[in-house]
Amino acid sequence: MFKALLLTKTEGAAPHCAVTELDEAQLPAGEVLVQVSHSTLNYKDGLAITGKAPVVRSFPMVPGIDFAGTVLESSDARYRAGDAVLLNGWGVGESHWGGLAQKARVKADWLVPLPAGMAASQAMALGTAGYTAMLCVMALQQHGITPEQGPVLVTGANGGVGTIAIALLSRLGFTVHASTGRLNEAEHLKALGAADLIDRATLSAPGKPLQKERWAAAVDSVGSHTLANVCASIKYDGAVAACGLAQGMDLPASVAPFILRGVALLGVDSVMAPYARRAKAWERLARELPPEVLARNTETIALAQAPAVAARLLQGQVRGRVVVDVNA
Ligand code: NDP
Repeated sequence: MFKALLLTKTEGAAPHCAVTELDEAQLPAGEVLVQVSHSTLNYKDGLAITGKAPVVRSFPMVPGIDFAGTVLESSDARYRAGDAVLLNGWGVGESHWGGLAQKARVKADWLVPLPAGMAASQAMALGTAGYTAMLCVMALQQHGITPEQGPVLVTGANGGVGTIAIALLSRLGFTVHASTGRLNEAEHLKALGAADLIDRATLSAPGKPLQKERWAAAVDSVGSHTLANVCASIKYDGAVAACGLAQGMDLPASVAPFILRGVALLGVDSVMAPYARRAKAWERLARELPPEVLARNTETIALAQAPAVAARLLQGQVRGRVVVDVNA
């Protein structure tokens, strides 16, 4: 038996979430059985646990789109008992039982070896949010954006994606501007590497199709009017890596920045990203982010605290990242 957070639902009611004892035999099919040591809470986990958006495809469901742990059994030649592994996405925690549990059984294709020198807790201090921040940075760099071109904006600055994006970009020599609704967190954002802060309210309302050219590039986890205003404020030949929808899924924009300034809108998806891109992102995360940055940006909670913290996360009250110690 092992402990898991289990989401159940009855017709017409919100999902119910509780720590439950499960039998290993109840786990879904997969080639690899993992002893999970740590999981995490991302925005999507918040949506799943609270039921605020229908991200869970079937019930009962163990939520948790990320986990890190040790292989217990594997019928796939790529993994052996004792290997340290991590997982992000692939519908785990949405349509396949996920990481907010002491055990998980998954497809071998979905796993990534834990990078050398990285602890499971550190991998989850990054989680999908940190890995997505790195995918955004990689997309901007692949587009050719360099620090000499000017400042880079990060929206949703105090969130999981935002905080890690700030830390990564500043360590690569970029001047980072952080857009936030929590200007009182200025000290934390500056310690991560933000050079300047702007109030997110200046970006969240409908704006002109073309605005003053302010940033060479941006990492946007907010969407909606914010993303439209950001695109309208990018310098000639700049780019925006768009990965999120914290303000909304809509994009009330015009084509003006794209056709008059050559701005590129780069979509970033972490869930189905191919293995080579994932492995590259994790290898870079292990190399480029000092452990003390992660430690400063992370709170650790027990499995039973996850529902309450998930609600706080969706209210924008969590700063940085949340690691879940599934054995606590
Ligand atoms: P968090 O909840 O940790 O961070 C979101 C941040 O956005 C908040 O901290 C807040 O920052 C800001 N925010 C919240 N509500 C609003 C609002 N109404 N208007 C403007 N800003 C707002 O979430 P994550 O960092 O985990 O995820 C961020 C987004 O990225 C989510 O939409 C998530 O679904 C998406 N995502 C997408 C992925 C992909 O594969 N494409 C992978 C990972 C995440 P502040 O207080 O500083 O303003």
